[in-house]
This record gives sequence, structure tokens and C-alpha cells, in this order.
Amino acid sequence: MNPFVVDDAIIYTNGHVMAIAPFEPGHVAYGGDRINKNNMQKMIADARSRQYAPVPTVTMPLKVYCRVCSGIGKATTKNCSECNGDGEIEFDTDYNTYECECKTCAGNGTEIIVGGEVDCEECSGSGKVYDLATPVLIDGVAINPAYFELVNELPDVQYSASDTRDRMYFKSGAIFGIVMGIKV
Ligand SMILES: [Zn+2]
Ligand SMILES: [Zn+2]
Repeated sequence: MNPFVVDDAIIYTNGHVMAIAPFEPGHVAYGGDRINKNNMQKMIADARSRQYAPVPTVTMPLKVYCRVCSGIGKATTKNCSECNGDGEIEFDTDYNTYECECKTCAGNGTEIIVGGEVDCEECSGSGKVYDLATPVLIDGVAINPAYFELVNELPDVQYSASDTRDRMYFKSGAIFGIVMGIKV
């Protein structure tokens, strides 16, 4: 989702992780028409008013082989050659036009060619990924280890678990954020 502005904040989110940064001139933002503004305002106020503490010692789960590239770290994603990336096949009879899911790509529209020169997007070329079945537990909140790793690289990052233990708030300087928990 494109970044959007709520009052004095610019919000970046992929639906699982949200970062709240102070809005400054020069930031590129979009309307955020589909956003529930009241909810956002509550979340921002909540994130900014919490008590934060340094991250406790965390044991990271082991990584597993990447399913996309079978662990070799190289894979190229191409448009499916049967449906040209549409994910659907359309064909006509004398009576009707039919649309059906492409069986070659199972409707994804993409084809993955393992090997070659390009790093696999899924594992960034490492051949290994975290398994969502083994989340990292921080103060009772289960979160995707990949997101934890990402957030934990922020300078002087601090954490605060929600009372309901379904999300983890974080703070790094003037930036606040939320990592949504995984249901286990
Ligand atoms: Zn296809
Ligand atoms: Zn991979």
C-alpha cells in the first residue's frame, strides 16, 4: 500500500507492519482514501503514548529451506507463458466466452524458474527463510521472525506489547510502529 498522511504523521504499511513517521515536506504521500481515519488516529495516539522498554533476550527460530528456490537462492520470476501473467485463460466457443483459472500457474500469473543468476525474491538469495509456524515470542506476542529482524535493525529500538498480546508496538527515535501478531 502506498504511504499516506494522517494529521502530522506519514504511515507506511504492508498490512502486517506499520511505521508511523513525522510528516515532513518532501515526503511523497497518497490520499489513503480507503483508510479508516478514526482508527488510525487512535492507533497513532496509542503508539505515541506507550511506555517502551529495550527488547528482551530473544531466541530466534531456525530457518528452513526456501520453498520457492528449493534452497539454492537463485530463481527468476517470469510472467506465466500460458496466460501471459493474467492468471486466467479466456476462450470462445460459437456460443459463449469462458474464463477459467490458468492451470499452469494456478492463477498466480507467474512462473518461477529455479536457478540462473537472479537472487530469489522470497529468501533474498540466502536459500533459507523463517517458517511462520515458528514465530518469535516477545513479551507474549508471537510475531513473524522476518519482521522482527527488520524492526530490530532500527537504531535504539524499544518495544511495548499490547495488553491483548496481539500486536507489538515499537519506537526508534521519532518513528513509531506496530507489528501485528500471528495467531498461534
Ligand atoms: Zn498462467
Ligand atoms: Zn529462495
